[in-house]
Amino acid sequence: MAKYTGPVCRLCRRENMKLFLKGDRCFKDKCSFERRGSGPGQHGQARTKLSEYGIQLREKQKIRRIYGVLERQFRGYFADATRSKGMTGERLLQFLERRLDNTIYRLGFSGSRAEARQLVNHGHVMVNNRKVNIPSYILRAGDVIQLREGIRNNARVQECVAAIDRKGVPAWLEVDKTNYQGRLQYIPTRDEIGLEVSENLVVELYSK
Ligand code: SF4
Repeated sequence: MAKYTGPVCRLCRRENMKLFLKGDRCFKDKCSFERRGSGPGQHGQARTKLSEYGIQLREKQKIRRIYGVLERQFRGYFADATRSKGMTGERLLQFLERRLDNTIYRLGFSGSRAEARQLVNHGHVMVNNRKVNIPSYILRAGDVIQLREGIRNNARVQECVAAIDRKGVPAWLEVDKTNYQGRLQYIPTRDEIGLEVSENLVVELYSK
């Protein structure tokens, strides 16, 4: 599946919020959003009043960019969410949260979702003892994720694992640092996911 390969800090400036796409750098003074703040490009500082459609569109882009998903795949998640029981917006976020790359990031085995995606793409991840190299793989409650032995001594992985206690792991995940392993205990609720986004605007946008 294709992925966005352009500069990522401009995405934060575009959405006017920190999307935390660059791992540790996002928490340092070097963060481009902290330093520059305004929108990207020549007219980034211009104030524009967004239409209702514009507001909905920006919210959709924000969520899509946080999880690193392209439009087509995002639409697919929305279609799945619509077919599921419950609130469509919440279901949409739950699908995104259950992605394998996101779960590795949430467990703290990588500094960003992009890094997690690379770990998966390069075949360093197992789900229920079987190698899975599809970042968009959707996990189920009870699934066990593990980093394969070959990558465990990697300096970057070691650095991330050492920071797990400091950063913390969400309640719906269980981590076993010694075995480089994690488990999806249950599907998180909207409140637990805790992102500052309005998924209902996405529902409105796609329902037109
Ligand atoms: Fe966004 Fe700042 Fe991280 Fe860049 S460093 S991705 S601007 S939060």
